[in-house]
Amino acid sequence: MEVFVPVHPGEARVYTCGPTVYNYQHIGNMRAYVFADTLGRALQFKGYKLTHVVNITDVGHLTSDADEGEDKMEKMASRQGKSAWDIAKFYQEDFERDLTRLNVQPKQHPRATEYVDAMIEWGKQMADKHCYELESGLYFDVSTVEDYGRLARAVTDDGEGRIDTVEGKRNAADFAIWRKTPAGETRQMEWDSPWGKGAPGWHLECSVMGEKLLGFPFDIHTGGIDHREIHHPNEIAQNQAFCECGGLSEATNSGAKIWMHNNFLVERSGKMSKSSGEFLRLQLLVDKGFHPLAYRMMCLQAHYRSELEFSWEGLEAALTRLKRMVMAAERLSDAESQPMAEHPKFKPALDKFEEAISDDLNTPIALTALEDAMATKKVDAGIKRAVVEHMDAVLGLGLFDLTREALRIRPENAKITEAEIEEALTRRKAARAEKDFATSDAIRDELTAKGVDVMDGDPLGWEWKLG
Ligand code: AMP
Ligand code: ZN
Repeated sequence: MEVFVPVHPGEARVYTCGPTVYNYQHIGNMRAYVFADTLGRALQFKGYKLTHVVNITDVGHLTSDADEGEDKMEKMASRQGKSAWDIAKFYQEDFERDLTRLNVQPKQHPRATEYVDAMIEWGKQMADKHCYELESGLYFDVSTVEDYGRLARAVTDDGEGRIDTVEGKRNAADFAIWRKTPAGETRQMEWDSPWGKGAPGWHLECSVMGEKLLGFPFDIHTGGIDHREIHHPNEIAQNQAFCECGGLSEATNSGAKIWMHNNFLVERSGKMSKSSGEFLRLQLLVDKGFHPLAYRMMCLQAHYRSELEFSWEGLEAALTRLKRMVMAAERLSDAESQPMAEHPKFKPALDKFEEAISDDLNTPIALTALEDAMATKKVDAGIKRAVVEHMDAVLGLGLFDLTREALRIRPENAKITEAEIEEALTRRKAARAEKDFATSDAIRDELTAKGVDVMDGDPLGWEWKLG
């Protein structure tokens, strides 16, 4: 743990490895962006002016990280009979829709294909000292930079971190800067370069977009923990080569001063794999009746460096917790938010929150601080509202924009509409008022048969849900 000292006073510049837009994002991927968004919000909370880039990989990512296999974009394009460009556009839009649904604040989304000229320039600059050509393209020689793989604590000759498969590589961990289109083939996405017609290697784009948009060094680079082994060490090696700077004992030599990785969301039955037919994506949660922000809550409940196991029960628990918070916020809805003057009653919760957020983004504790603030008694509602808004600005749950009704579970394939349920419940209420319990029970049974759980006296005021 170290104190965050910005490269540019008063500013925080963050780069987050973005999605490869050849398919829908699964909710594990979305955990990476919820984490990055919460980090960005925390930096703003601390008063920094935030510049945050999340790139869009629309070229160059192969089905294997070992410079092998097909380009993910082209493979999906031929499978769907569309152009790679159409595939990229479609899945980028879907990704951005999911970000919005998760209250992820707008960020810059540069596309790799817009930076190919800049990537070629980088390649030219590094080529003489750091690269060599093979039949299949231009490769980076990792032995030409100091401390290669230090981020992953990798052993590069044997064992961990070993990646070869391409014949002729000098070191197992060498990687492609440029992939030549094989003779006699045409790719949908290809460009002319000094190393022949082809496409850039995947790692190059993040180095180039990071440098172009944020300048070297910038403050924080994020990504999922899988990137700590190959993608980020390779980015760092390129950055060292580009800057012609030395070893990694100097943090700024890696391009970004701090590298942060979120751990994985795991799911035991394998539904996270994009190759498993219907995989777990945000839309599936919505179709099963869960509000997307229940998933954000689920993410916040775990520390970003811990593995998080997905289960429907866990999601339902997160939804219930969110609902309790929304109910507390509803009680403050009439209050005018007051300037958050020093208020002794809120000091413990505010201090706890501040400490938790500053302690490597400890959102599980921060959530309990928010609950403490909400439970504080005999205080001015306006000040309470200000405190809740202050904390929610970091957590991004949007508590004052949500309603209990919006959080109600209603799967898309339900056999009954919401209006029909409300109508039946109104009839049932009238029957009960007249002590006509036979009718009341009959209506309840009717609803049960259609999959509606009627929840009399539910403390959360849910009244019904679709099972
Ligand atoms: P990709 O589109 O495969 O490049 O992945 C996009 C982002 O999601 C990267 O930062 C990955 O490290 C991250 N990621 C992939 N799978 C998971 C997972 N199961 N849980 C959390 N993050 C993930
Ligand atoms: Zn990246």
